[in-house]
Amino acid sequence: MRIPLMSLCCVALLAACQGQEAAPASEAATAAPVAKVAAMAVDVDEQSYAEPQKVAITDLALDLALDFDTRTLAGTATYTLDWKDASAVELRLDTRDLDIRSAEGLVGTNWVPLKFMLDPADRMLGSKLTIPTPDRPAQVRIRYATSPKASGLQWLTPEMTQGGQLPLMFSQSQQIHARSWVPLQDTPQVRYTYSAHVTSRPDVMVLMSADNDPAALRDGDYRFTMPQPIPSYLMAIAAGDFVFKPISARAGVWAEPAMVDAAVAEFSDTEKMITTAESLYGPYRWGRYDLLILPPSFPFGGMENPRLSFITPTVIVGDKSLVSLIAHELAHSWSGNLVTMSSAKHGWLNEGMTTYVQNRIVETLYGEDVATMEQVLSRDALRKSIQQMPTGAQVLGVRPGVVLGSDAETTRVAYDKGSWFLQFLEQRYGREVFDPFLREYFDYFAFRSIDTGTFVEYFRTHLMQAHPDVVSMEELENWLYDPGIPASAPEVKSRRLILVDTALRRWLGSGDLPPRELTREWSSQEWSRFLEGLPDTLSPEQMTQLDEAWHLSGTTNGELAQRWYVLALRSGYEPALAPMQEFLVHVGRLKLVMPVYRTLAATETGRELARMILERARPGYHPITAVGVERLLEQAEKTQDN
Ligand SMILES: [Zn+2]
Repeated sequence: MRIPLMSLCCVALLAACQGQEAAPASEAATAAPVAKVAAMAVDVDEQSYAEPQKVAITDLALDLALDFDTRTLAGTATYTLDWKDASAVELRLDTRDLDIRSAEGLVGTNWVPLKFMLDPADRMLGSKLTIPTPDRPAQVRIRYATSPKASGLQWLTPEMTQGGQLPLMFSQSQQIHARSWVPLQDTPQVRYTYSAHVTSRPDVMVLMSADNDPAALRDGDYRFTMPQPIPSYLMAIAAGDFVFKPISARAGVWAEPAMVDAAVAEFSDTEKMITTAESLYGPYRWGRYDLLILPPSFPFGGMENPRLSFITPTVIVGDKSLVSLIAHELAHSWSGNLVTMSSAKHGWLNEGMTTYVQNRIVETLYGEDVATMEQVLSRDALRKSIQQMPTGAQVLGVRPGVVLGSDAETTRVAYDKGSWFLQFLEQRYGREVFDPFLREYFDYFAFRSIDTGTFVEYFRTHLMQAHPDVVSMEELENWLYDPGIPASAPEVKSRRLILVDTALRRWLGSGDLPPRELTREWSSQEWSRFLEGLPDTLSPEQMTQLDEAWHLSGTTNGELAQRWYVLALRSGYEPALAPMQEFLVHVGRLKLVMPVYRTLAATETGRELARMILERARPGYHPITAVGVERLLEQAEKTQDN
């Protein structure tokens, strides 16, 4: 439980309770006197069995064999431990579907066997691994192997890759899948440095969320170090036919050979994005910033694995119109990777901050027009989706002391309401005040994990007290803790989207499509706006007219595909059905496929078709996507029965 302890020093408490080094004095903002931020009590992470207040991992050394034939990682994990509680006599780790073979503790210079207990698996949390450690050894070593079904790993046969020659695998650890490939204190409250020795078949390149060498030899024997302490959800590994091409001296692309040039061209602004973020929020602290382009089955848009963001190829559309995703993953190098939510229920600290920073980068690089357009689209989408959510899910932050269920999820509220909240603050205080505030916030909490209460306390002492009467505590609490969209939410208008809306109304009224000179300039956002503004169903003639003019069935732009196929299903437009199935089989990105599956799930024939498609798609789907679709169909079936 978290109880405000007003007299304690925040830095000391955070360092003590969260298993991480306090930032060196040089990293703390000089303008931010430490004692002024009242300390918060320990946040409870509902999604972990670990007890980091008693003992915390400070370093992890992995020695793993990566085997495509058995689809496993096997070897040892060695933990350096900080025993904080002198009475602690066990180490509790999170695991899921792991085969734990032995545990040892380092006593003097000898490794001595330790007993261990692996609990039966909880559906959400996996199995608690308890290792009695009466001697509180400085290091513990576990020998283990992963399951071929590990929820955090996807193994692809050569046929499922672009090159078709070599197999490919990759991890997705967020939110709590790291425990399916390493026994860990799988909570963002613990940060640790890591090193790894990984062996594999010699013809694949292995990469990790660490110091990947662009000139590394492909020889099946790889070593990595991650010198900055990270939370477990940023553990990442990938192996496959990956080649490297530079974008700048510190940024580049890893991808399958056939994809690498298109990726470098699409993401050529990456270095400019880094320097833009640095000019706003201080130096990039992680060394290199590379992008790894994964197959279309990657379930997310991107994953901010430090030094090596994992990226879906579905944003490579040829006109850079979806590169705000790169701005987003890069922004996490400050918000999320550097200053981290202490548990998933404070997801807005990662995702809302990041979406805000992303928008600032987009504005600097691509202009206010584009940034405003993205703001309006995200706010409109939030407005639409928030109405269907239970009130508990509409809330941005969680008050100190609240403990949620282990299945609480990060929704678009964290992203879109979170960034809207920060845009509200920016507008009230002005950039000349708000920008330095945020920069100091990143410095102050660098390499630490915090909760909403800690943010509020920092905000109160660093912004509110210096600038009274700009934002009231009531307004702040309204944004953070009340459902819905606050009355104080600032509104913006997008000139470009207004033009699209006008064109849309004209077509609905007269059947006249917007002129080619106009649509030629449209980006993915404007096309999406047009499709989203259409009524729920269109006549066969209308569908045919749009499809013939714009070739929407079979489009390679996933943002358009997901909207077009939903419309086609609702309108019963059959020519789109075959390309829709191909789209669902070949793309596994949740954001793109779930809206289509959701529409299919609404009718019995649709569910039948969805099940057929799922079976065809399953070998290429990530476990996260396959389970997501299964649950959706089960749920729809149940609602239908009741
Ligand atoms: Zn994010």
